[in-house]
Amino acid sequence: MLLLGVLLATPAAAGPPVGQLSVFGPDDLRTWNRPLWMEEMPSEPPLSLTEQELSGGAVGESEEEHEGEDDRQAPRPVLKPYAPGDPVSVGQPNQGYLVDGVAIEADAHTLVRPGRNFGTLETVNAIRGAIAAVNRKFPEGTHPLVVADLSREHGGRFPPHKSHQSGRDVDLGYYHTDGPPQRLARVWPQTLDAARTWALVEGLLADDQVQYMFIDYRLQAKLYAYARDEAGVSQEKLDAWFSYPQAQVKRGAPIRHLKGHADHIHVRFWSPQAVANFEGYVAHYGEAVLQPVPTHYTVRKGDSLNKIAKKFRLNIKQLKGWNRMRGNALKPGQKLVVGFRRPPLPRTR
Ligand SMILES: [Zn+2]
Repeated sequence: MLLLGVLLATPAAAGPPVGQLSVFGPDDLRTWNRPLWMEEMPSEPPLSLTEQELSGGAVGESEEEHEGEDDRQAPRPVLKPYAPGDPVSVGQPNQGYLVDGVAIEADAHTLVRPGRNFGTLETVNAIRGAIAAVNRKFPEGTHPLVVADLSREHGGRFPPHKSHQSGRDVDLGYYHTDGPPQRLARVWPQTLDAARTWALVEGLLADDQVQYMFIDYRLQAKLYAYARDEAGVSQEKLDAWFSYPQAQVKRGAPIRHLKGHADHIHVRFWSPQAVANFEGYVAHYGEAVLQPVPTHYTVRKGDSLNKIAKKFRLNIKQLKGWNRMRGNALKPGQKLVVGFRRPPLPRTR
């Protein structure tokens, strides 16, 4: 019954919640969407590897547990002015959403998960381009690549992921030597198809689209050896791209180790056009597109602040602050703000 009350009190048009614990407003979004080269992107995965490995092997959930600074230089491409309908990456990958995202579709070379296959145009094109490069190089005997989660259609929270919110992340499978996997599946150095996986990684790295990618260290070792000995990659490039063999995470290197990445490669793209589109998007539709929408709960008999705070995983101070409450008294029927949702998106196409 309580749940029903919440659902009825929740605005229906607002899309997926951006997070009960987080409130952000136009200023936050402006800061986060500043052109990437003006400052380092906030809240990127750090150079430490202290997070605990999540058990259970669900798809791509562990990399997003950390916070910290990144050390890679963002590219500075020539950008086009925003036009309505262009994809917009709003906010940050771990606290943001996606406007007019593009779906990556299944084809003979690509397995996708419907509803989880939306990204910025740059993300989708980079993935498509890399898969096409693999299949051009190896026209025979290449199994379809599992392209697991990108973002949802409008982005936003996407459990169990922390990131994957703003169209700039994807979890890609590996190419396996022991048969085509239908879903993300654990690969070992012995069963990693190093030739095709290296072609994929090289394709991803080709146009400076990738901020970083997580690949299990033991698999990096196999790829490194392949790239050096079979693909003729120069030592200079190996040093620039791989963390292996110097460190699990080497400063400035896009290929990094993180626990939990033996069944998929997590790739974060820069996506500078979609990030920059934010300004034009706001200019075109007005500030209102950035105002978070409060979600409400109607107080019932027997409720207390403590009980409601627990229910929505808030602290009491936050709850009282949002509702401008001085004391603790509640009346049945009273409406409380218990969270914020992303603003409704304008119809852009
Ligand atoms: Zn991921």
